[in-house]
Amino acid sequence: MVNKRVVRSSCRMCHGVCQVLVHLDGDRVVKVTGDPDSPTSRGYLCPKGAASPELLYHPDRVTHPLRRTGKRGENSWERVSWEEALDEMAERLGSIKRESGPEYFAMMQGTGRPYTCFTTRFAYAFGTPNFTGVAHLCYFPRWLASLYTTGQLPVCDLYGFGGQYPACVVIWGCNITHTCASDGMCGGTVDRALRKADRVIVVDPRRIGPAETADHWLQLRPGTDGALALAMINTIIGEDLVDHDFVEEYTAGYDSLAEHVRPFTPEWAETVTRVGADDIRAAARTYATTKPACIQWGNALDMSACNFQTARSLLILRAITGNIDRPGSDVFWVPPDGVRQRSLYMNLEVPGLQFLSDEKRGRALDGGKYPLCPIVHPPAFWRSIVSGEPYRLRAMWIVGSNPLLTMTHSLEVEKALRLLEFTVVSDFFLTPTAQLADLVLPAATWLEQDDVVNLHKIWCVLARKKVAQVGEARDDREVIIEMAGRLGLREAFPWKSFREYLDWVLEGAGVSFDDFCEKGIITGEMRYEKYRTQGFNTASGKLEIHSSALEDMGVSPLPVYREPPLSPVSAPDAALEYPLILTTGAKIKWFFHSEGRQMRSLRRASPDPLVEINPVTAKSLGISDGDRVWIETPEARVIMRAKLFDGIAQDVVSAQHAWWYPEKEPPSHGWRESSVNLLFGDAAYDPDTGSESLRSSLCRVYPVDGHSA
Ligand code: SF4
Repeated sequence: MVNKRVVRSSCRMCHGVCQVLVHLDGDRVVKVTGDPDSPTSRGYLCPKGAASPELLYHPDRVTHPLRRTGKRGENSWERVSWEEALDEMAERLGSIKRESGPEYFAMMQGTGRPYTCFTTRFAYAFGTPNFTGVAHLCYFPRWLASLYTTGQLPVCDLYGFGGQYPACVVIWGCNITHTCASDGMCGGTVDRALRKADRVIVVDPRRIGPAETADHWLQLRPGTDGALALAMINTIIGEDLVDHDFVEEYTAGYDSLAEHVRPFTPEWAETVTRVGADDIRAAARTYATTKPACIQWGNALDMSACNFQTARSLLILRAITGNIDRPGSDVFWVPPDGVRQRSLYMNLEVPGLQFLSDEKRGRALDGGKYPLCPIVHPPAFWRSIVSGEPYRLRAMWIVGSNPLLTMTHSLEVEKALRLLEFTVVSDFFLTPTAQLADLVLPAATWLEQDDVVNLHKIWCVLARKKVAQVGEARDDREVIIEMAGRLGLREAFPWKSFREYLDWVLEGAGVSFDDFCEKGIITGEMRYEKYRTQGFNTASGKLEIHSSALEDMGVSPLPVYREPPLSPVSAPDAALEYPLILTTGAKIKWFFHSEGRQMRSLRRASPDPLVEINPVTAKSLGISDGDRVWIETPEARVIMRAKLFDGIAQDVVSAQHAWWYPEKEPPSHGWRESSVNLLFGDAAYDPDTGSESLRSSLCRVYPVDGHSA
């Protein structure tokens, strides 16, 4: 009994936002529960968070460094010590740098990870411009659009710090109340805000939970968000629902916007989006007149070939209605005083994720083709490894990513990984990607980490306390610090340990890491309408509706709409053969991208990859609920189970992503059976960011054991 204790910490089974209580019996974690006293999550806990102990003690975890012994991809490994692994790594990376140059090494990581500033810092300190990942289609398009428009990312003010909650909440391309968290926001918090709001608008091709009771559910054709947003701007300007005081005083470019959006009428948008013109007008009126209003936007906007421009439109919607930095609207958080938050824009002395200089871009494997792609463009990256043009990359360190499952052109990714001379993967499990590595380093789970958690740089930092240790798993940041020491990169990584780094992060706040863990949270002191005294953090100091900076880069200075590259409109011939619109990338409550498929509790809840299909369409194709079906595109076909759902249009199907089967034989674990990313080829990318159009493509669907459609 005396061995039982509870430690306050914060979960990181997804992007991390929930404060939790970790229940221990001796040294063993027995349970994780929500922390009812948490201001960020108020006791919320999702199934992924509850499954944390299952991840920690999973028998298949990699718990010691492994070195490949057989041929690449043969699943033949030997256990080595950390010393041996790091020595070998330092020796190989050092000699590649000396022989060929630093650009022959690349670093990549998966979705927003707590170590982003470490991986980028390591890459740039090493001297390579070749850093890649998923930033071109996740979060960064919205963040970059914000930098050019408002100077900072606006976030929904759902906590009532200013004495007001949003009267109108717009949920746009974000199923956060199902998926549990997104961009540093907790699904439970959004749920509460929706219940408090007078009016709710949902923009989604699928009838997600909040759409059931929303005042307006705009069921648009996938990928046409940009057209809808422009028509809403057109309505608000046309009906003079504009906040003129705000616009005149604090924005630049309104007049040119008014001229620019004249053709984008709701009638025009109806032909593009399939949402009725009157419904568009009604939603625009609701948003513009129910104050304060906020827009909870999501990743669906990023995964399109019009992501940056659409994000600009949504920022302008906020601007012309004055829903910026006012209580209950979309606001700019004031971060905690004195805490060195780990991001470039909070902490300029730290070289973190940043735009590559022209000189560096020139040496990058994609040649810097997309002006607003914050990483080396992944399809170009993998292709260059296969082709050897402009040069053949030699080594790679993949931290917390499973690109075979999570990137398009997956077969090319596989080819590339087989061609590399030396690959290191840091992960929890021997994933299909890790199976192609030379060295696999065991990563620590959040229960094995200390951290100052910064929630996508918003209004607080949360404490995470190490409570367990399984095998020799180590925090990736500690490994990066060690590797930096071995490679002579101490200037960039002056800390002797990760703990020393955490003390440095908290130095200005006047609190040690241990004291911080006692407190659990440090919050900033929120102030609203900061633009009145300090303007906006843009070149002109105004909110830039028209952006000259973008114009100078060859990017449209006012938002435009682009049709998805493979749609019934842009590719009518292809649509004859592939008559269904394929949308994918919607998050699944039980899994964090390709993670979690090993965990019994999660797989019980979600055992198979699913494709949602309208019952009318299913019937016409001879498909019943639960049938195994092929989803086929010109690129490939994969198998999923049909889930009949009348909340989706008859010519749209929604397929889950990042599926593999840890229970199937290694090394492949059946990854080619159901990974939706196999279905995407070389349709056009967003010319600004290079994003693939994952939310809108074309496919056909037919039963595995029956006739072909
Ligand atoms: S939403 Fe994310 S942070 Fe919160 S409990 Fe679930 S996995 Fe953990």
